Amino acid sequence: MNEIYEEFRSTVRRFAEEKVKPHAAMIDRDSLAPEEAFEAARALGLQGIPFPEEFGGSDGDLMLQVIASEELARVCASTSLTIASSWLFSIIVENGNDQLKELVPGVASGEKKTGWCMTEPQAGSDLMAIKTTAKKVDGGWVINGNKRFITNGGWADWYLVLARTGSSDDRSFGVFVVGKDDKGISFGAKEDKMGQRGSPTCDVIFDECFVADFRCIGEPDKGLSYFKEYLLTSRLSISALGLGIAQGALDEAVAYTNERVQMGRPIAQFQMVKGMIADMVVKVESSRALLYKAVNMLIEGQPGVEAFSSMAKIACTDAAMDVANDAVQLHGGYGYLKEYAIERMFRDAKITQIYDGSNQIMRQIVADQINKVQVG
Ligand SMILES: Cc1cc2nc3c(=O)[nH]c(=O)nc-3n(C[C@H](O)[C@H](O)[C@H](O)COP(=O)(O)OP(=O)(O)OC[C@H]3O[C@@H](n4cnc5c(N)ncnc54)[C@H](O)[C@@H]3O)c2cc1C
Repeated sequence: MNEIYEEFRSTVRRFAEEKVKPHAAMIDRDSLAPEEAFEAARALGLQGIPFPEEFGGSDGDLMLQVIASEELARVCASTSLTIASSWLFSIIVENGNDQLKELVPGVASGEKKTGWCMTEPQAGSDLMAIKTTAKKVDGGWVINGNKRFITNGGWADWYLVLARTGSSDDRSFGVFVVGKDDKGISFGAKEDKMGQRGSPTCDVIFDECFVADFRCIGEPDKGLSYFKEYLLTSRLSISALGLGIAQGALDEAVAYTNERVQMGRPIAQFQMVKGMIADMVVKVESSRALLYKAVNMLIEGQPGVEAFSSMAKIACTDAAMDVANDAVQLHGGYGYLKEYAIERMFRDAKITQIYDGSNQIMRQIVADQINKVQVG
């Protein structure tokens, strides 16, 4: 990895230790959005990584997004997730009109927060089941529907909404930008979650919600293709988030097993414990290698990147769950107490195997594409 990336990693790691970690247990316990960490991240420009400099961003490539996701999640997955949610707004830079682009600097600077709305009660893995509609009217569009499980719901200022613009059995979708103060948008109750409790999640409801024409991104029937392209980068950020949890759990396990003394010596010296630590390291390092291979493939526009992104998602997020599970085991009874960070990491890990395309769906993509990709 080149020097710029390594330097960036050290900077974000230091930032995460100093400005993010101190809030992690509290925002989890009280289910509060990471206000302090999000605000502090603005000074470092983390929200603006993928945006061009003319829009107030740092014109960073996907590698920087992934490094930031990993390093933040190493200490706090909720903070990592809420910051990564800003990045999808860069869809506007490439596909939006000039009036929409005026919204970008606010998001790139972290002054405004964003969420993206795809999932619905009946449409999780099955996007074709989406029922939310956008109907063309004079001067704009009227949106009706119910989006479920929206990260930053109620907390964000702007929402990217995928809605049907054609009939219910065709693939015409538009992506619309809706503001939290627009007439006709409302928010469900905050979900009481198992993990990543510092990232707000709720329903976002559209009831005769009118948005002007310029709030439609690009062509009103090409939304799915715009979203799909950006979802690939988002999948790699989520993979990195999983990897960060795995690395953080490994850090906790190594520190604890070197401190904890039983039968007259640190438990790290027992052969079975050494075996577990070694297996955890292998999971972390092998998933890291796969992730960074997929990132490079995407940056270089290589074929087969969808399959490799899915492989990275499986490897990194399964590693998060497995390594966190083993790390709790190595903490003994203490790992079951909320006083220890590993208890939170264990809960935070689970959702990474489910959201942003569940790992079963990822496996389906890998298996379906096995004949098309060059493996090895
Ligand atoms: C905390 C959190 C944050 C989220 N943030 C967002 C967000 O910001 N924006 C957004 O749009 N969505 C968001 N989601 C939604 C998330 O992406 C979905 O929950 C996820 O895609 C799975 O959909 P589902 O929950 O409806 O499960 P389902 O699709 O009903 O799946 C249930 C189970 O069946 C399996 N399954 C389904 N279909 C198949 C198949 N064809 N083959 C094999 N197995 C299958 C799944 O893998 C899963 O195990 C979030 C969810 C959570 C919990």
